Amino acid sequence: MVKVYLRRKIAPRIANGHPWIFANEVEKVEGEPAGGETVTVFTHDRKYVGMGYINPKSQILVRLLTREKNVEINEQFFLDRIRQCWEYRQRIGYVENCRLVFGEADGLPQLIIDKFNDYFVIQTLTLGMDTWKPAIVKALETIFSPKGIYERNDVPVRELEGLTQHKGFLSAPFDTKIIINENGLRFHVDIENGQKTGYFLDQQDNRRAIRHIVKDADVLGAFTYTGTFEIHAASYGAKSVLGLDISENAVEQANRNAALNGLEKICRFEAANAFDVLKQWGKEGKQYDVVMLDPPAFTKSRETIQKAITGYKEINLRGMKLVKPGGFLVTSSCTNLVHPELFLQTIQMAAKDARRSIRQVTFQAQASDHPIIWGMDNTNYLKFLIVQVL
Ligand code: SAH
Repeated sequence: MVKVYLRRKIAPRIANGHPWIFANEVEKVEGEPAGGETVTVFTHDRKYVGMGYINPKSQILVRLLTREKNVEINEQFFLDRIRQCWEYRQRIGYVENCRLVFGEADGLPQLIIDKFNDYFVIQTLTLGMDTWKPAIVKALETIFSPKGIYERNDVPVRELEGLTQHKGFLSAPFDTKIIINENGLRFHVDIENGQKTGYFLDQQDNRRAIRHIVKDADVLGAFTYTGTFEIHAASYGAKSVLGLDISENAVEQANRNAALNGLEKICRFEAANAFDVLKQWGKEGKQYDVVMLDPPAFTKSRETIQKAITGYKEINLRGMKLVKPGGFLVTSSCTNLVHPELFLQTIQMAAKDARRSIRQVTFQAQASDHPIIWGMDNTNYLKFLIVQVL
């Protein structure tokens, strides 16, 4: 097996258990590794570190799969790991729909598997993980006997690994428009053409957190996508709900979801740019009891964090101005590049500019089927905040 030796001075990240090894952290590679091949990693003085997969084309040269000795990386390894992922989800109460595998947080770097009841959507974002795709599919078949498995590898990040973007069936073809249950409500999910894997499971617990504040309220939701937060609000007793999304497709899907739950009289959706509309309505003096914001990640790279902060501040400022005194702002950020403290500071800045004071109701992360590994900052990515705007 190809041997990879780290430099004498090991990055604390690697020493503390993080699975990524950058090319500039490696002193030498013994052997001629093929892309995706399993390699053994040692310290400069030949102490065993672990085994992982290599990609000479990537800046992250190796991603570790194990630090244990006497383990073989083979089909059985993937079956065992995915079984452990499933046991953990069952243990913490995520059975029907869940993120079954959350990459690094589950010891399977850059593998994402979402379970929508009997259907599975997978993403293999690196060459190494892509190489093991047949083993991963076999493991899903063994554990779950699924009704369908679909690959959503139409993700630009794969190109950094020399991979192409691609989507398609990994099982016999099936109808990729399915319906899932969440918190007693039903939602259409488009596995083939929806955003990411088709549905955002990471907010499934946060959606329940609005239960009390939306009762009898006039609610405005922006960045609605499939209408999930808005439909929850309607079912929790809101008086009226308006959801906005820039994508006509999303609005159409959200309207269908409202109808699916018999809530189309309370809940309507419109296509609009939230930045423009919120600003305009602020000028007109419109007011809501509850404003909900769930914008996309405004940045994917460290260089543009400031741009993201400006975006978050701006949209929250505009949202806050629309909240009646004593009403509530429900706001999220889904990029791991904006850390929780920075996010809270940004909301604080928005409140200051809006000349409103805020009282924190709750501050949460993503649902627990997306585990946060302490010491692995990028697993702590979703911020979900409810404040009362005084
Ligand atoms: N709240 C959703 C997820 C939202 S994803 C859920 O719980 O599932 C972010 C959404 O914001 C996307 O659907 C995208 O189309 C929309 N979006 C992006 N920019 C926008 C803008 N300027 N105005 C309104 N919607 C926007």
